[in-house]
Amino acid sequence: MNQATAQAAANQAPAPLLIDGQWIAESGATLDTVNPATGQPNRRIAAATAALVDQAVKSAEAAARRPNWRDLLPHERARLLAKLADRMEAQVEDTARLQMQDNGKVLSECRAQARGAVATFRYYAAACETMESAMSPSRGNYMAMTTHEPYGVVAAITPWNSPLTMEAQKVAPALAAGNAVVLKPSEVTPSGALALGRMALEAGLPPGVLNVLPGTGAQAGSALVAHPGVRMISFTGGTVSGRLIAQQAGSRLVPVILELGGKSPHIVFEDADQDRALKEVAGGIFEGSGQSCVAGSRLFVQRSIFDGFLRRLTEHARTIKLGLPDVAGSQMGPIATYGHREKIESMVATAVKDGGQVHTGARRPADAALQAGFYYEPTIISGLDPNSSLAQQEVFGPVLCAIPFDNEDDLIAQANNSEFGLAAGIWTKDSTRAWRVARALEAGMVWINTYKQLSIATPFGGYKNSGIGREKGLSGLRAYQQSKSMIWGLG
Ligand code: NAD
Repeated sequence: MNQATAQAAANQAPAPLLIDGQWIAESGATLDTVNPATGQPNRRIAAATAALVDQAVKSAEAAARRPNWRDLLPHERARLLAKLADRMEAQVEDTARLQMQDNGKVLSECRAQARGAVATFRYYAAACETMESAMSPSRGNYMAMTTHEPYGVVAAITPWNSPLTMEAQKVAPALAAGNAVVLKPSEVTPSGALALGRMALEAGLPPGVLNVLPGTGAQAGSALVAHPGVRMISFTGGTVSGRLIAQQAGSRLVPVILELGGKSPHIVFEDADQDRALKEVAGGIFEGSGQSCVAGSRLFVQRSIFDGFLRRLTEHARTIKLGLPDVAGSQMGPIATYGHREKIESMVATAVKDGGQVHTGARRPADAALQAGFYYEPTIISGLDPNSSLAQQEVFGPVLCAIPFDNEDDLIAQANNSEFGLAAGIWTKDSTRAWRVARALEAGMVWINTYKQLSIATPFGGYKNSGIGREKGLSGLRAYQQSKSMIWGLG
């Protein structure tokens, strides 16, 4: 960003944050967001300080107790959530563009994520209205019933790669469960969350039930996690931040859901439909410039077809069109921040030093139209030791590490040789083998002859350092509630 544009951004009045139904522009701190496709400033946003975090949590505590939220019957709460979904649906295009400007994902993907967020609110509206309490078998002259109640205030903290998806995935079930929410979006991508806060008010959610506090992790995020009024934390982000948050939550005995990083194996057996596998392997790592927690970043191909598959994949990767995210035909946008691209570049440089052979990419594109943005070419590297840093660490960029395997035992040992366990993909026509391998993989989500197929109805989360707890599905609503058992004596 040059000095004149930086000055113009600095002169903007900040977009306000949302506490207790009030929009606050003078928060004492600001964030400047940057469009990664152009390097130009987007907007200035009011950022939360510790004092405002305190105000937001107190407002959420009060809202959670107020009869206009606490005493709503499930079908009444469902109606509000469905109304919010309707408003979101009417504004899909605007919301998609906000995300695109903040993180540079191509517009078609942002639109799909905005529509997915609508579906998430509809799903949890329906779940809220239809979920039942249970009576357990009596062992005497009494009746036992278990109901489910909200925690109170939920802190929802989200990353920059798919904010519309992540925010809906937390806010919808937390509200459906009857909580009030303080949402802290990533400092890189606050715009979609502020739009969600506005639409929630328009849909008639009582003030304070959803507060939106953009801010940094160090300032707003850590103040939120430490606040005694927060009774549950739902976090999606990196494993380093997740571990820190889990430690703080542990010391306060507050439950957490942690959706963290991944280094997912994408496996191609020699009997696979190679054309389909190739397309999905490429999409699994290069869509969204690889900035996806479930990116299939470790490719395992059976040795008998390794060279041929890699050659075709390389040819395919070279045809992927990098471009401005709102230009028709662009298949890959930029990396979300300048600093993150530098991190990717440094990890690739280390891989080359470690003996990695670059088949394609490992550089910024030459296209003059893309020079101001933070672009990076699809990159494929082979020949690395499976324990080298690129084969083990999450890059969170369009970088694929290709590794051959000899047989099933060798494959399973290599695929599970990771601190992460978020997702995996298997390509084979042998369904018995697919079942066997899927059962042996340490991952919370396994795709067989498909990849990145996601549904709000299917539980999602990680093994090992990829997280704790599960989001989505009906259990994803129960995660935001605590059960209360009541026993009536009948004597
Ligand atoms: P990050 O951990 O740096 O930040 C995530 C969020 O946490 C941001 O809002 C940030 O401000 C906040 N934060 C950071 N430190 C904090 C602290 N000490 N206390 C409270 N809040 C804090 O992650 P990121 O760079 O924004 O996102 C990329 C990471 O997210 C990748 O590792 C990716 O795999 C992961 N991710 C996981 C999933 C999943 O579902 N498992 C989905 C998307 C992204």
